[in-house]
This record gives sequence, structure tokens and C-alpha cells, in this order.
Amino acid sequence: MKRDTQLMRAGRPHHGTRPVNVPVDRASTILAGTARELYNRPDGTPLYGRFGTESQNALRSALCEMQRADYCALTPSGLSAMTLTAIAEVSAGGHVLASDSLYGPTRMFLTDTVARWGVEVEFYDPRAGAGISTQIKANTQLVLCESPGSLTFEVQDIPAISKAAARTGARIMVDDTWSAGLNANMLDLGADYAAQSLTKYVGGHSDVIMGAVLAQGEAAKRLKQAEWRMGLYVSPDDAFLALRGLRTLELRMEKSARNSLEIARRLADHPAVASIIHPARDDHPDHALYLRDFTAPAGVFSVEFAGWDIARSERFLDALGIFGLGFSWGGFESLAVHCDPQLRRHFRTAHDGALIRLAIGLENVEDLWNDLEQAISASA
Ligand SMILES: *Cc1c(COP(=O)(O)O)cnc(C)c1O
Repeated sequence: MKRDTQLMRAGRPHHGTRPVNVPVDRASTILAGTARELYNRPDGTPLYGRFGTESQNALRSALCEMQRADYCALTPSGLSAMTLTAIAEVSAGGHVLASDSLYGPTRMFLTDTVARWGVEVEFYDPRAGAGISTQIKANTQLVLCESPGSLTFEVQDIPAISKAAARTGARIMVDDTWSAGLNANMLDLGADYAAQSLTKYVGGHSDVIMGAVLAQGEAAKRLKQAEWRMGLYVSPDDAFLALRGLRTLELRMEKSARNSLEIARRLADHPAVASIIHPARDDHPDHALYLRDFTAPAGVFSVEFAGWDIARSERFLDALGIFGLGFSWGGFESLAVHCDPQLRRHFRTAHDGALIRLAIGLENVEDLWNDLEQAISASA
């Protein structure tokens, strides 16, 4: 079966009289038919609502099928998907390496919380590739990667990092939100954990907060145990919405990506622009890695405007009419934010000017372009 067919079929039954979609199945208590069944449920029947009902299991199995994973933990947010992998892998006396391009709140979990457990937290240059081996120690337990990185979109050489980590038995987690698990398979590239914010493209409609972590083999067992021990839970209503989002994921990502590349192309020719940071463009420094590991891009990228300060960026954002000002991306609607990627980083990025991150939605590309063009002029 081809991938688009698979996306329409994953996570739902194909035989018998039934609704097309797995219904929202709300439960805390799930009654047993007999005393024996209290602890020994018939195959596939959940024991208790916290472990999920048919609604959560349908989403889990669809995501596992997409990425050929053995287990999918569903988490109350994308952030908790990232933090769950640290809980599954890290212990006192250990060492954790994290990409300098990691999503800000994930970094803060490491430096504020994991560090308190007696774990050494260190950052590495997202472009280190195989060079990361100089920072991997005998007690390195987990390497947290994100590809491409938040705000600055460095693509990481996951196979090289995975090989370097394997030499001492360190596990690697990749924040895979940009590919949505659709346009790349981080597990195939060597990640032990592929984690993503389903809030972004999978949810796709700016009305669900959720995350997922996928793993195979032994890592899948540790992941499931950590999820259960933590008591993590997502509602069946939200699982239903995320699974609904999955059906149109490819279509939405395609248009969002096409729109973004067209907007990026026009911005690149605009005199106000210093550079475009979009991994699917051949002027991106990691374009070759992108071509090797991804089949298509997401529609979010950053723009560096020539000599803009924060005040100019703010005037630009305030002049936008169609773009909303807000965090997140992967929804149907276009969004813009300004960001200073230098703020919390250890390694210098190549960008000194103010960056604007654009999340391109499903609107008509001419309307989006006109909005950006008028806002650049109006902010002068
Ligand atoms: C948004 C985002 C997260 C966090 O996801 P939430 O669902 O908002 O908690 C993590 N990583 C990346 C790369 C993100 O863009």
C-alpha cells in the first residue's frame, strides 16, 4: 500500500458494520465481565481509562503504522513528549547532550529540572554531525536532537550522530515536529525515539495540544513504562481530532510547503531581505542533508531582514493583516513572530539581524504575498 492510501486507512477497522471513524470512547472505569477478567482482560481491552480507550489506541496504532514503530506514547503536549524521553532514559550521575537549536522550553526542562537530578547537561553545535563524538562520554545517556532546529532550521546528520552515540550506548531522541513523521522517518535514520508535537501539522487546526513519542524494540518498552509510571493521559476527544487531522496531513503539508517556497522565493528577491532560512532551498547550508533525509518540507521558515532592529520588526508585525501574530505553526492559518535566536544559545548562529519566523498556511499565496509586501513598506 502506498503512503497516501495508508494514511486513509491507518487506525480504523476495515470489516463489519461500523462508522468510518473510531468513535469517541470516553471512560475512566472499564468494567470487567467476571472477577477473573478484572486483571486479565480479553486481548486489546483496556484495563483502566488512563491507559487509553479505543480512541487513543486508534491514534497510537495509526502513528505506529506510519513510522513502523512498536509503540507510541501519547502525551498531553509536544513539550511533554520531549521531556518523557529524558524521564525514560536519564538517571543520577549521567550526562545529557542537547542540540543548541533545541526548542526553548525543552532546553529549560534540561537545565532547570534534569540538572537537579544530578545529571550533567551540555549543549552541542547542531551542525556538529559526526564531530559530536568529542562530546560523548562514557556516561552519556541521552542525546536530544531536533531536525531542523527551532527558529534557525539547522538540519542535523542523524545517522552520523546515532553512530557516534552507539559507540558508548547513548540513546538518541529526535524532535521530529517539522517532518510530522510524514516527510522523514527518524527511526529509520537511527533515532531511538522520534518525538513530535502533534499540536502542529497533525492536529493542523490550531485547536489541539498533544505530543507523541515513537520507538521500537527495547526503547519502546522503556517508553511505555515511563508513560505508565508518569500517568500521562490525553483525552479521547483530542485523540479523535488528532486522528482526523492525520487524514488530511499530506494534502495540507503539501500546500503549506508549496506556498512557503513561493513566498520564500519572492522574499529572497526583495531588497529588504538579507537571507532566507528554509532547508528546502538550495541556498540553505544543510540543503544536501535535507535532500538526503526528507521527502518534502514543512511550510515554516525564518527570514533575516537587512539591518532590522526589534522596533522595525514590531512595526512590520503590527502592519500584517492576514498573518496572525502568535506562537505555533502547522495550522491552516498563516502566523508570524519575531525571534532572537541568539538569546539562549551557546554557539553562534550565522544570523545577527532580527529574524522573523513565518508559518505559512493554506491561504492563497497572492494574498499572503501582498500582505507581506505592504507590511514591509509600512514598517519603513
Ligand atoms: C511547538 C513545538 C514543541 C512543543 O509542542 P507543544 O505541543 O506546544 O507542547 C516542541 N518542539 C517543537 C520543534 C515545536 O515546534
